Amino acid sequence: MDISIIGSGYVGLVTGACFAELGNTVICADNDVKKISGLKKGLVPIYEPGLKELISYNLKNKRLKFTSSIREAVKASEVIFIAVGTPTLENGEADLTGIEKVARSIAQNMVGYRLIVEKSTVPVETCSWVKKTISTYVKKGYKFDVVSNPEFLREGSAINDFTHPDRIVIGAESLKAKQIMTNLYQPLNRPILITNIKSAELIKHASNAFLATKISFINALSRICDQVGADVKEVAQGMGLDSRIGGHFLRAGIGYGGSCFPKDLEAFITISRKLGYDFQILKAVRDTNQEQGAYVLQKIKDALWIIKDKTIAVLGLAFKPDTDDLRNSPSIALIMGLSREGARIRVYDPKAMAKAKEILKEAVFCKDPYQAARGADCLIVATEWNEFKELDFIKLKNTLKRQLIVDGRNIYEPGPLKELGFTYIGVGHGNE
Ligand code: NAD
Repeated sequence: MDISIIGSGYVGLVTGACFAELGNTVICADNDVKKISGLKKGLVPIYEPGLKELISYNLKNKRLKFTSSIREAVKASEVIFIAVGTPTLENGEADLTGIEKVARSIAQNMVGYRLIVEKSTVPVETCSWVKKTISTYVKKGYKFDVVSNPEFLREGSAINDFTHPDRIVIGAESLKAKQIMTNLYQPLNRPILITNIKSAELIKHASNAFLATKISFINALSRICDQVGADVKEVAQGMGLDSRIGGHFLRAGIGYGGSCFPKDLEAFITISRKLGYDFQILKAVRDTNQEQGAYVLQKIKDALWIIKDKTIAVLGLAFKPDTDDLRNSPSIALIMGLSREGARIRVYDPKAMAKAKEILKEAVFCKDPYQAARGADCLIVATEWNEFKELDFIKLKNTLKRQLIVDGRNIYEPGPLKELGFTYIGVGHGNE
């Protein structure tokens, strides 16, 4: 099929590259001209495992193309995905100006039937607005359909998530739209759930809100564990083995972040309020997440007494491993909190350093965990990259000024570290 993806970010690039790999002809469009000119040369602006190779391969095979002209993309493709950002406005609503703008451009540049696929995460009823917008601006009465096809990929494993999803959700009205979408996704051989459009839109917000709820639940539980000396990892394991609960998203830590959970939760709370429902559970999930960062910061303060002029090493900057994405990263929030108190920060992250340099002006950027730890009063693990799980702790012990580890992601077993002479502070293991 001839496909266009408008918005070449994490979702747009992965979607475009994967559909090209499946044999479709794909045009990825974006209004960021610099990004597009880089992509044309194979320069991928984000780190996502396997993406660079997939893009280069499909560029070479001429199945993938990049453009900054929406007109070119819309003219050439029968199926047009919208994958632009939907950030949070100050009042908590999702900012849908990008979606509206793209919908208008699509309408103005259509040259025949078009299937418009809403892939960005949007509040329920956005597709009806897209449909109204296209009807208003479309020329010559060209026919079109709008479908909702929310994306569930996770950064860090996006390609595998896209090609092996647990389910593909398609919210569609017309038979034609259902058929095109089913044909497009058939090669993945994964379960396809066809729903009405509003249900599909809600499935995405509901899923993210539910996953965030699991994280905040286990983080709240970690507070109780700390008080009584229980081990939150054991509690989570015991809960997770119950198939009605499941073990995923039950890892206590410094809280969730990223470009999706905080934003989508806020948008869901806001749209619910607009629809007349005060979604109190979700407000508690959000508040618990914010408190969790402050709680870990307090643990560090309790261990160091005075933060001012202390040297603190932070391992991990990205909001999760295997990505360079810093949006709403709990690590960055923690560093900001420590800097405000006058700490000297030394950082290391395997992939997010270049982006972090634009945000953390005063931090010292180090080439590896040991350089970061040099002379530090405390070492914090803020992102659970695999390489942090296998450090040389003897070397680390000799490098640190004070042998204090704050494991914000609970990646270490406290026992062996304590035996080596470290003071270990985790989340939900009992207060020291
Ligand atoms: P992103 O910020 O990485 O990319 C968005 C892209 O859209 C940018 O390149 C931007 O330049 C482009 N853009 C914005 N306005 C445009 C316009 N008017 N015309 C053309 N291009 C425009 O965002 P993302 O992380 O890819 O997320 C996109 C959407 O997908 C969001 O709604 C997000 O919630 C959702 N989503 C994201 C993830 C994820 O893990 N990142 C997962 C599932 C769903």
